[in-house]
Amino acid sequence: MSDPEPVLKIALPLPLPRLFDYRAPQAADADDIGRRVRVPFGNRELVGVVAALGAAELGPGTELKRATWLDDRALLHGELLSSLRWLAGYTHAPLGEVLATALPAALRRGEPLPDTHVRAWRLTEAGETALPGLRQGSRPRRLAKWLHAQPRDEDALDADIEGWRSAARTLAQRGLVECIALPASQLAPQPQPGPEPNAEQAAAIAAITCSDGFAPLLLDGVTGSGKTEVYLHAIAHCLARGRQALVLVPEIGLTPQMLARFRARLGVPVHALHSGLNDGERARTWAAAWRGEARVIVGTRSAVFTPLPDAGLIVVDEEHDASYKQQDGIRYHARDFALVRGKALAVPVLLGSATPSLESLHNARQDRYTHLRLHRRAGDAKPPSVRVVDVRKRPLDAGLSPELHGAIHAALAAGGQVLVFKNRRGYAPVLLCHDCGWSAHCKRCSTPEQPMPMTVHAGGRRLQCHHCGARQAVPMACPDCASLALQPQGVGTERIEEELARAFGDVPVLRIDRGSTRRKDALEQLFEKFGTQPGILVGTQMLAKGHDLRNLTLVAVVGIDEGLFSADFRAGEKLAQLLIQVSGRAGRADKAGAVWLQTHHPEHPLLQTLINGGYHAFAETELAQREAAGFPPFAHLALLRAEAKQADAPMAFLHAAKKAFHALEDETPAQVQLHGPLPAPMPRRAGMYRAQLLLSAPNRRALHIALDAGLADVYALPEARKVRWSLDVDPVDL
Ligand code: ADP
Ligand code: ZN
Ligand code: ZN
Repeated sequence: MSDPEPVLKIALPLPLPRLFDYRAPQAADADDIGRRVRVPFGNRELVGVVAALGAAELGPGTELKRATWLDDRALLHGELLSSLRWLAGYTHAPLGEVLATALPAALRRGEPLPDTHVRAWRLTEAGETALPGLRQGSRPRRLAKWLHAQPRDEDALDADIEGWRSAARTLAQRGLVECIALPASQLAPQPQPGPEPNAEQAAAIAAITCSDGFAPLLLDGVTGSGKTEVYLHAIAHCLARGRQALVLVPEIGLTPQMLARFRARLGVPVHALHSGLNDGERARTWAAAWRGEARVIVGTRSAVFTPLPDAGLIVVDEEHDASYKQQDGIRYHARDFALVRGKALAVPVLLGSATPSLESLHNARQDRYTHLRLHRRAGDAKPPSVRVVDVRKRPLDAGLSPELHGAIHAALAAGGQVLVFKNRRGYAPVLLCHDCGWSAHCKRCSTPEQPMPMTVHAGGRRLQCHHCGARQAVPMACPDCASLALQPQGVGTERIEEELARAFGDVPVLRIDRGSTRRKDALEQLFEKFGTQPGILVGTQMLAKGHDLRNLTLVAVVGIDEGLFSADFRAGEKLAQLLIQVSGRAGRADKAGAVWLQTHHPEHPLLQTLINGGYHAFAETELAQREAAGFPPFAHLALLRAEAKQADAPMAFLHAAKKAFHALEDETPAQVQLHGPLPAPMPRRAGMYRAQLLLSAPNRRALHIALDAGLADVYALPEARKVRWSLDVDPVDL
């Protein structure tokens, strides 16, 4: 008897750790693995991906349903598919959910792989003849001359010639130019030269370009040291070898300014992937990369899933940035996954930062990464001077000391711009009744033990919860004692903006935080308008990077004291990175910069180490403490989280889960420790009670063996049906 026809084992986007059997439309073979299919599932249809072929596991009397192909060949194959399988294993998530996370939304819904030709313009033969006759200095003549050398895509024209569209229309009407569709790869590079690399940059570039195969490199260079220049040289080298480069940037780092710099310097189309694109645009870029047409892809976190058939280099800029970690669904870390892909693709992976994560520094110290240092700012730029302002017993106006007022005044008078940094948006963090002590709390996020204050917004008219988004009007009178003496307590960015506008009314005062700028292009437009004239920016950590401010001479940090006393073991690292990043914005080659740090705790060891020894001195101390305490990078963690409307359900589930892990003692390595379960640091959010169970182990392998063994039982727990639970491997927020 011959073997029965193999069935398709399909990964479906469902929270179940298994594959699903379907009959193939026609005889299938190994080449069909990675092909998308549409399948009936219950009373709906789902889009899935063929993960394997095999024998049907049929219950008696059931008949397999048939799948239909969505593509004529596999969409996910080779390295990308195997890396995603690895990711499913590492995050202990169903393969179908991982694949659905990796695919752009349009492809996940089953839409066909889109056409990816770019619109380009070229000079016709008639145009070549007519060119000398076009009026000198006119825009049509400039455009025609520009197209004389080679066709240009619309992106490049947007960047090079203002108002080119009307000129193109005029010329097209006379048959002198025409619009064509080209694969992006057919546009020849037209790179512009940059500054000559200095010795440290040259050494870094050489280390990257001579790497053959996988090589993890940490480019550790102060702000303004020319890391981006190093990326550009490495990418140009990669392009010259006919390979693709993938560049990951943090959410706020992908500015039009930055893209324009890449386009101009590399002279090829640069494909951007970010949350501002619609589904169609995202799918098109993905497809262009899949076909090998996109040569340089610059994108935020999820761009790490870009197919790279001709990979040559992966760059992760600001590798320490928290936006690389996905906080819901499949909780992957884009930097870490970039390293996995780089290894599978046998290409160098360049991690860059002025404030490397302790994980990466640790790897560099262990010689697992090549450590490339840029110690000084490039060109003639000097590092900013740093001054600590002790504000104990000083009078403060909306949180600003008289000394700081004076410094802002001086900086503006000298023609500079000022950045005032406060990591708390809104007008004031608390609304308090002066007569009875009542304060406004969020009903959906508070517990009797842990009330959550609502933030005062809109100059004192509105209350908003920063955790669940709930909003309400500020009450006229105290709900408890009817007093009218309700007072905003403390200081947020809105209040500082108000005070600065009062004190420095003759210059623009611009507030940048998540409240003031919902849309990214709105943010860019604000910066454009702000220009380079004297003015003041007030804002949260959104200002720590992003748009390049050439005329910024003073950075004033006025609200960091909260961060000095947090319970989270990563709080110190995050605060140090933020301080260095925001300070790094002060000063340029032609203008010295200053940083003023206003604090009630000038003697705090973190500030002292950071100011006297810099980031690396801080990192040394912090790593020693992590090692002593058994925290990452010296231990590996996984966090089982649960939430539910019923107050007791999360803890009940986690206790049961803990028992399940304990029951597997023979299969679980002894080094794995379970801590908790405990209520989450925010024990309630948006009406849901939250708790967590922490697993830790001195090595990754032990942790994953335990998870592999225990999770199957956790899925099956009756208590699991009463909660929403998730597993976070390498959590960044505990
Ligand atoms: P980073 O990415 O480390 O912040 P950039 O690459 O953006 O630094 O460089 C900071 C500034 O210094 C830019 O204006 C850049 O053009 C300039 N620059 C970089 N390298 C050099 C160099 N070798 N010589 C002169 N200027 C340089
Ligand atoms: Zn009251
Ligand atoms: Zn709330």
